[in-house]
Amino acid sequence: MRWSERQTAMLHEMGIRLWSPQPEPHGVHDSTPLPPAERGVGSAEAALRSGEAAAVQVVALGGVATLGWDPLRAAVTACTACGLCKGRRQTVFGVGHQRAHWMIVGEAPGEQEDIQGEPFVGKSGQLLDNMLRAIGLGRAELQGVEGDAAAARQVYIANTIKCRPPGNRNPEPDELARCEPFLIRQLQLVQPKIILAMGRFAVQSLLRSSDPIGRLRGRVHQYQGVPLVVTYHPAYLLRNPEEKAKAWDDLCLAVATATR
Ligand code: URA
Repeated sequence: MRWSERQTAMLHEMGIRLWSPQPEPHGVHDSTPLPPAERGVGSAEAALRSGEAAAVQVVALGGVATLGWDPLRAAVTACTACGLCKGRRQTVFGVGHQRAHWMIVGEAPGEQEDIQGEPFVGKSGQLLDNMLRAIGLGRAELQGVEGDAAAARQVYIANTIKCRPPGNRNPEPDELARCEPFLIRQLQLVQPKIILAMGRFAVQSLLRSSDPIGRLRGRVHQYQGVPLVVTYHPAYLLRNPEEKAKAWDDLCLAVATATR
């Protein structure tokens, strides 16, 4: 892969120096097929209690597993399936191209995301945007780019958890389990060609693995037949900038996998 001057500048901004030839994709295939838990009843029941129209639809359709984008978003907005709904300003659904080739899965909204209603808009989000820009991708709609070309360049970003945990604490297993059907449905609707799982909660949810990121990164996993690359969460990279080079390797592996 060759880098333009602009991309090199982005990499510099990420703290990555191009001191050696770009690494070849690792290309190690690890099939870890994991069935998605198509739960949704908890969320649907809770949403029904809230009396929202979307919730009625959720129950009528037997959970979130068959919802289209608008009712899915409405079901998330109305969800009271776990205690996180009590402290949220708003739910944080997801952003980007609805048929993006790349789907980025993070952890949970922080303060800025809770205020703005969009994933990854705080400091971690700035780093994520820089990382994506370095490989020619972004979250925003591109003027004059349509169809598959747009889907190839505009990513879709979603979190494992749609409400901010108080004080940015780690999500509880029960909260992850109750929110999971929403992410599964988003993945089904987007049908990405590549999934980038950032951080341990995305990995736990999608790969059912509690192995550390350091052990899972560097190879291609599978989620329901879709290649999945594991990498460090941007918040971790902000605390441990020396690991950015590894995150860059992960992005290169994901690019190589997506274009294969
Ligand atoms: N961290 C995440 O995992 N997601 C966000 O939306 C913000 C920070």
